[in-house]
Amino acid sequence: MTRRQFTAAFGTLPALAFGEEAAPVTVRGKLTQDPGQDPVILSEGRRIRLEGDEQTSGVLRDDRLKDIDFEVIGHWDGTDKLKILPIHKRAMYVHQNGKRLFVTYWCAVCSIRTYTPGVCWCCQDQTALDLKEKLDN
Ligand SMILES: [Zn+2]
Repeated sequence: MTRRQFTAAFGTLPALAFGEEAAPVTVRGKLTQDPGQDPVILSEGRRIRLEGDEQTSGVLRDDRLKDIDFEVIGHWDGTDKLKILPIHKRAMYVHQNGKRLFVTYWCAVCSIRTYTPGVCWCCQDQTALDLKEKLDN
């Protein structure tokens, strides 16, 4: 096939035809953590399984967020599973009192902010859940 024929045949197809990722979708619902099961979000009567990178999974399994009004951004992987965008894309939010809040973790001793639960890398204390309206750093 020549370049001219190729362009004629495929030039007007949308980019998706070449395997590029679709625009991410936003799902909001109740973050549900049943023992021994992957975290799910209950949204409009559907149970959607949530997957993500290691730090994202840490947030999804944080029991301080159990049953919270939660929002995730990601890509469908099948009809009932959502792959959440990487942690640096800031793809998880908590809705509280009409506000959309970033999920962060804070060590008050060292003034260090992280984005997944665990111990502070500096003092090794447990970090506190700190839901933030804006990220200041
Ligand atoms: Zn610390």
